Amino acid sequence: MESLQRISRASELEPFRVRFLGRRGGSLTGIMRRLSEVSKEDRPQLGQLANAVKKEITTLFEEKKKELARKPGIKADKGLDLSLPGRRIPFGKLHPVTQVMEEMCAIFEGMGFAVAEGPDVETDHYNFEALNIPKHHPARDMHDTFYVSDSILLRTHTSPMQARIMETKEPPLRYIAPGKVYRCDSDITHTPMFVQVEGFLVDRDVSFSDLKGVLTSFLQQMFSKDLAVRFRPSFFPFTEPSAEVDIACVICGGKGCRVCKRTGWIEILGAGLIDPEVMKMVGFDPDEFSGFAFGLGVERIAMLKYGINDIRLYYENDLRFLAQF
Ligand SMILES: [Zn+2]
Repeated sequence: MESLQRISRASELEPFRVRFLGRRGGSLTGIMRRLSEVSKEDRPQLGQLANAVKKEITTLFEEKKKELARKPGIKADKGLDLSLPGRRIPFGKLHPVTQVMEEMCAIFEGMGFAVAEGPDVETDHYNFEALNIPKHHPARDMHDTFYVSDSILLRTHTSPMQARIMETKEPPLRYIAPGKVYRCDSDITHTPMFVQVEGFLVDRDVSFSDLKGVLTSFLQQMFSKDLAVRFRPSFFPFTEPSAEVDIACVICGGKGCRVCKRTGWIEILGAGLIDPEVMKMVGFDPDEFSGFAFGLGVERIAMLKYGINDIRLYYENDLRFLAQF
C-alpha cells in the first residue's frame, strides 16, 4: 500500500497495476493461482483472504487513479503536462463553389461528357473570333473584358475550349469545360472572377430536342426530379437558334417571391445549337455535323441550392460562412 501512496504521476499507475493486479505475473494473481497447492481445509479461508486483499487493492488503485485525474497540471518529465487536453487539428474542406462544380461535372460525366480544362489567360482569337464574335461585334459589350494586351486577355467564358477541342478532334464530341472566368463587374449578383461550366456536343443529326433532353435531365438531377424547366428564345453570337433556360423558382416553388421577382421562374443558363459559322471556322461541314452548346454559372446554381442571396459571400474568405457547407 505504501507503494501506491508514493505514486504521484498518472504514468506510474500502469506499472503498479501490472505488478500487483496484472493477469500475467501480477503477485496477487500468482497467489490466487497457487491456492490449489494448499490443503483442502485451509483453501476456503485463504481464498477469502486473497479475494478481500485483491478487492481492497483494486479499490485503492481506482481511487488513486481518480485522484490523479482530478489533479490539475501534473508535470511529467521534461516539463510536459500530460493532463492538458490534446490540440484539435481543424480539417479543411472544399469551397462550396468547388463542391457544386464537382457535382455538376459528375452529372454530365454520367451522361457521357468528358471534362476538358484550358488556360485562364486566353487569346482574343479563341475567346472571341473563333466563337463568331469579331472585333466590332456588339456582343463584345456583354463581356467587360480584362485585357492583358491587345490580343491577350483573361477569358470571359470557358467556351474557348470549344474551339480548341473542335480544331484538334473529330466528331462525335461531347465535352464540358469547367473553370474560372473573369469579367469587370461587381455587385450583389456579379463578382470579377466566377466559375462556369460550359459544354458542347457535336455529332450527326443533333437537334434542339437533344439539347432540351440533356439540360432538363441535368437540372432535374441537380435540383429535384419533378422540376419544371422552360426554354425562351434568346441571342448568342455562337449559337443559332439560342435559348435562355428558366427553372421553376426553387425558393417558392413557382408561386412567386422576391428571389424570382414574383414570376415563379428563375433564369439559370444560356444554350443553343452551334452556329454553322462556328462549325465552318474549325473546318466541320455544317451540312454533315450539327451540335449544341450551353453555359452555366456555378455560383448561381450554388446560391439557389443553398438559398444564398449575395454572391460576394463566397469570396470574402469568411470561415464562419464557408465552414457551413
Ligand atoms: Zn420564387
